[in-house]
Amino acid sequence: MFNLILFGPPGSGKGTQSEKLIARYGLKHLSTGDLLRGEISQQTALGMEAKKIMDKGQLVPDEVVIGMISSALDNNPQAKGFLFDGFPRTDKQAEALDKLLDLKKNGIAVMLALEVSEEELVKRLVKRGETSGRSDDNNEAVIRARIAEYNSKTAAVADYYKRFDKVVLVKGEGGVENIFDRLCNEIEPRING
Ligand code: ADP
Repeated sequence: MFNLILFGPPGSGKGTQSEKLIARYGLKHLSTGDLLRGEISQQTALGMEAKKIMDKGQLVPDEVVIGMISSALDNNPQAKGFLFDGFPRTDKQAEALDKLLDLKKNGIAVMLALEVSEEELVKRLVKRGETSGRSDDNNEAVIRARIAEYNSKTAAVADYYKRFDKVVLVKGEGGVENIFDRLCNEIEPRING
């Protein structure tokens, strides 16, 4: 199994690059943001609670996302590997993920961390808000709150994986194909090794 974390702030291109990476490497894409939006569109109780928090730009409780990831891992026993997108976002989530993978005699191969300036992030998210229909993208105050939440709670998750020497920084600015090539260059030597 090859398990990869695609890391970076909101708007850093995780969703776009994830789609391309799963197509190339046959990994199962696990995006907690997508899973939560799925719950919202099905109007589940979990989704309704999560929406209130997401619309403020805050993180939903660890237990909620850990539960969703745990089920997704159990529901995909045949996967060649997983691409985690938007998860883990706190140290507690990172520890829980390690335990879940450990139970399956697995672990994280690498965390690829996309680096994008804050100015560029806000620009991209405002633009995405014009077409995405995402209620957390169409308000600059909410966008800034999400970036603040990233800086205060999520950025440190990279330090957690640095301790295990698993973090590679990748420049997340420039063309989509160029960024994809940079990510692939980091994956190739690791995926079969
Ligand atoms: P973005 O990274 O662009 O903000 P996501 O789709 O990854 O988009 O996340 C949207 C929202 O979903 C987040 O602002 C947060 O409220 C919630 N969310 C997603 N993943 C997590 C997570 N792992 N832990 C807590 N909240 C999460």
